Amino acid sequence: MQTCYWKLQNNEQDQEVMVKAAAFIQAGEVVAFPTETVYGLGANGLNSEAVAKIFAAKGRPNDNPLILHIADVKDVEPLTTGLNENAKALMQAFWPGPLTLVINKSEIVPDAVSAGLPTVAVRFPSNKFAQQLIKACGCPVAAPSANISGRPSPTNAQDVWEDMQGKVAAILDGGNCGIGLESTVVDTTEPVPVILRPGGITYEMLTEVLGAVEIDPALQGDSNYKPKAPGMKYRHYAPKSAMYLLEGEAASCLPQCVENALNAGKRVGVLCSKSIAQALTQNDNASGNLLVASWGESLEELAANLFYLLRDFDRTMPDVILAEGVSESGIGLAVMNRMRKAAGYQIVTVNNGELSLKVGSLPEFMIK
Ligand code: AMP
Ligand code: MG
Repeated sequence: MQTCYWKLQNNEQDQEVMVKAAAFIQAGEVVAFPTETVYGLGANGLNSEAVAKIFAAKGRPNDNPLILHIADVKDVEPLTTGLNENAKALMQAFWPGPLTLVINKSEIVPDAVSAGLPTVAVRFPSNKFAQQLIKACGCPVAAPSANISGRPSPTNAQDVWEDMQGKVAAILDGGNCGIGLESTVVDTTEPVPVILRPGGITYEMLTEVLGAVEIDPALQGDSNYKPKAPGMKYRHYAPKSAMYLLEGEAASCLPQCVENALNAGKRVGVLCSKSIAQALTQNDNASGNLLVASWGESLEELAANLFYLLRDFDRTMPDVILAEGVSESGIGLAVMNRMRKAAGYQIVTVNNGELSLKVGSLPEFMIK
């Protein structure tokens, strides 16, 4: 399949692009488009055959349901048997925006979208290009992240092109995504709403509106719990190189760990804040074996840059990636969720003054 690549310009020509893109979606084809979270792979959410093409393009397991995207609050009504007060309060507070609500589904939602569950996930994105496209389609747009399943989500159109050229009808280039992590998913069908996936709408923001909010215990990586969002059980965001995440006090040991790994002859990728990056690159031992990926200073910058930097390590392929953990406040909860998954839960902490892996033992080169 030839994939059209259309750059959006923020001018009147965009409308022509939207009409052509919507025509593809109405004809049952798949089009990638920008949102404020990550790029999405969109198809007509009420057409099972079109939805099946999304699963095929991504190589996504069929038991992982999709989010339906709408561009007007009232468009949620036909998709559900009814909304409770919690769902209404969240829509009022955070739509349009990076919040997905799991609600009871109506009969018009195909099983291909909900993976056979009695519920459906719905979001009203705030990105103007996403809204224009969904409006032009005139139907809810089913859209997971526009990456091959298991890879980090794309936050710019070139990364979508890398994974999806030849597999989808068109890619709309709307520049970089502002938030950079997938939406927060909240199950509103429980008496106390549950965060199934942390994202740009933070735990603190949700409790301010709802009072009580729970966090799905499976998000801590405890294998005794099965995640309620089927997608959260899959290996995700993983770079090809082995990755270790240094958490809490261990983060301060990052420069020493890097040094040890370099001395052991490893090519080392480091994912860290600007201040640590500056300290590392001043080190003369650095040589060509040190690949420093700095995300900047704030948690928001880390969220916006994380997936791009992880995908970049798949181009440079270090022997090992060492990452600096951050606080779990605000969007830090979502960032740490993605980094732990990217590291395959290889989490390094300090125990009795010594570094240790949460599960298993540290590789020789990290101990020195
Ligand atoms: P993605 O499409 O890659 O952004 O992932 C969507 C996430 O929402 C996945 O983790 C899904 O498992 C989750 N999800 C979608 N629909 C539902 C639902 N009805 N109930 C629970 N989780 C859902
Ligand atoms: Mg995804």
